[in-house]
Amino acid sequence: MDVHPAPARGPARRVLVVEDEPTVAEVVTGYLTRAGYEVEHAADGLTALELAAALRPQLVVLDLMLPGLDGLEVCRRLRAGDGPPLPVVMLTARGEEADRILGLELGADDYVTKPFSPRELVLRVASVLRRAEAPPPAASVAVRAGDLVVDPAARRAERGGRELALTGREFDLLVFLLRHPGRVFSREELLRHVWGWEFGDTSTVTVHVRRLREKVEDDPAAPKLISTVWSAGYRFDPPDTRAGDGSPRP
Ligand code: CA
Repeated sequence: MDVHPAPARGPARRVLVVEDEPTVAEVVTGYLTRAGYEVEHAADGLTALELAAALRPQLVVLDLMLPGLDGLEVCRRLRAGDGPPLPVVMLTARGEEADRILGLELGADDYVTKPFSPRELVLRVASVLRRAEAPPPAASVAVRAGDLVVDPAARRAERGGRELALTGREFDLLVFLLRHPGRVFSREELLRHVWGWEFGDTSTVTVHVRRLREKVEDDPAAPKLISTVWSAGYRFDPPDTRAGDGSPRP
């Protein structure tokens, strides 16, 4: 049985694989090529940045442990430019949890931990690309809650007239919470609804909630919008229930 998810129709998606270990690079390249991607390879960070600029891939598979410029720095620079963020799937080793969390904070979309199943990597790549390329749903009218305004179609969010610089996942998380005010969601539920993962590391959710709070809360140390509900999860409370009723913006 072939479980490789075929990429969407149209021109082949270009994926840049950044990995210095030849064997891993070869296996990953082989699997992605067979899954229908056009694959380029870079064995170090600087080459990766050059190739990313020259080839404009749709996604980067990025090993964290690289000679010279490390994967985190590459991730930071890849995500620093203007325009829509380039999706990144990180390859990390066990014991690199701090780096993994930092990578997610830098805007990486997903990760797999070595040793990984190449099929799982292909699934993660397909899932991240699907997300990045999904057209906004037709009913994605802007949602307002108090002085917080989120426009899913334009992928813009602002609070008090100030635009919020959110990563893709932070944006998706905010939209999800905004659409379900007053309801408590566990980390597992958020992982399923926002990330589309049936299983995974719930610390991913914790990291994103913390980052989102830093961007939307007046005082991230005393969050009022995204509350932690002890032993249950998180709940979004609209900033001003008199002014914001969560209804679509006129
Ligand atoms: Ca490596």
